[in-house]
Amino acid sequence: MPNTLGKSFPLKITGYAILFLLFYFILPVYLAGLFHANRLILLILFYFVNSVIIAILFNKNSSKNYALDSSIQDIQEKMNLLTVEYLKIQENNIALNEKRRRYASLENLLEDINQSLDLDTVADSFSERVFSLLGNNKGVCALYLVDSQTQRLTIFKTRREDPELVIKSKEGDIFDFWVLRHASPLLIEDIKNDFRFDLDKLKSIDARPISSLISAPLVSGNKFLGLVRLDNQISWYFSQDDLRFLTAISDLGALALENSELFQRAQSLAIHDALTLLYTKGYFSERLKEEFIRCARQSLPLSMLMLDIDLFKNYNDKFGHTAGDIVLREISRIIRDSLNNFSAIISRFGGEEFCCVIAGMEKNIAGCIAEGLREKIAKEKIILRRLESHVTVSIGVASFPLDSADEDELTQLADKALYKAKQMGRNRVCSI
Ligand code: GH3
Ligand code: MG
Ligand code: MG
Repeated sequence: MPNTLGKSFPLKITGYAILFLLFYFILPVYLAGLFHANRLILLILFYFVNSVIIAILFNKNSSKNYALDSSIQDIQEKMNLLTVEYLKIQENNIALNEKRRRYASLENLLEDINQSLDLDTVADSFSERVFSLLGNNKGVCALYLVDSQTQRLTIFKTRREDPELVIKSKEGDIFDFWVLRHASPLLIEDIKNDFRFDLDKLKSIDARPISSLISAPLVSGNKFLGLVRLDNQISWYFSQDDLRFLTAISDLGALALENSELFQRAQSLAIHDALTLLYTKGYFSERLKEEFIRCARQSLPLSMLMLDIDLFKNYNDKFGHTAGDIVLREISRIIRDSLNNFSAIISRFGGEEFCCVIAGMEKNIAGCIAEGLREKIAKEKIILRRLESHVTVSIGVASFPLDSADEDELTQLADKALYKAKQMGRNRVCSI
């Protein structure tokens, strides 16, 4: 648009000046010269008419100015509204982009957590993703899983902004118990103003400062696997949108974690006997080979104990097969407890037969340990249907390198020693 204002303004001023001079000096002086007699009256009349004209013009001009001002104000108001709307759209755009970025990253998260079936690896990448996507790597992200044995929440993985920070509530705090109890997600925007929780209780458990928090349960089917939570020292750090996203992620995480838990359990079942939880014969043979090689390389001794329950058939006949199973579990527990300190590899070798290998142990010490174990089992009261019963075991001992330098031969020798113990009247320890 051409700038007409710049050119017309000085012209207008000059025009007004000329008119002013003409009407207020030249014309009055000229008229006064023409009519000498009525000079004064004429001048007064002239100025009066002029004043009226100026007043009318001024009035017209000022009402025009007023209309102009109000339309400027209208435009200004519209501009302000448009600016507010524009800012809102811009804000929405940013939020939308953030949402798009998050949901696009779901694909990566899925890829990450499904890459492995190892529980530790899955939990690692899951907690890392959650921490970066929702926490922006600020504050704390904690993954709690329900321990399959104790059925209690246990901290499994943590991600923190401050690597020095220690999380004291290893089994969860009041917020985690809330999620556990309600099995639903939790958003706390400002802890001080959330009257659902007793903060004094929290202070006594965990001294670290928390102002806001989001948490979602990890549920697969009807099974509560644990929960994932993010907390921050800043109030209002998390929003409803964050909680919605965390819930979506948690569903994916729960599936991946359950898969890896099932896989781990299947793997464990493959190497553990279901009744006694001791190693299976197959896995034991593999480990025996490894231990043999290691001890040979490091010039260490290795001892083997072969145990068999005495007259177990009679026990089954007298008390029943279920009672026999209880005995098998009990004997397994005693063996495990007794040999735990020696890092022994213990297996259920057959029906009521157990084989243990202890790397780095001399034959004479192994004999003493076997004797202690035999005594302990013999003394153990097994109470079934309010009836007290006892079982005894016979044990054969063989050692590397004293008896043999071959693992198969060593196993045969331990078995031979066990047979000897049986022959000699049972409830005893024998060696070759
Ligand atoms: P010995 O002192 O000579 O070893 O006599 P024994 O009766 O223990 O030996 P035998 O080999 O004749 O019998 C072993 C018994 O172990 C037979 C079987 O019923 C029992 N047994 C094997 N596996 C299990 C099991 O898983 N549960 C129960 N309850 N019994 C089992
Ligand atoms: Mg037996
Ligand atoms: Mg037997």
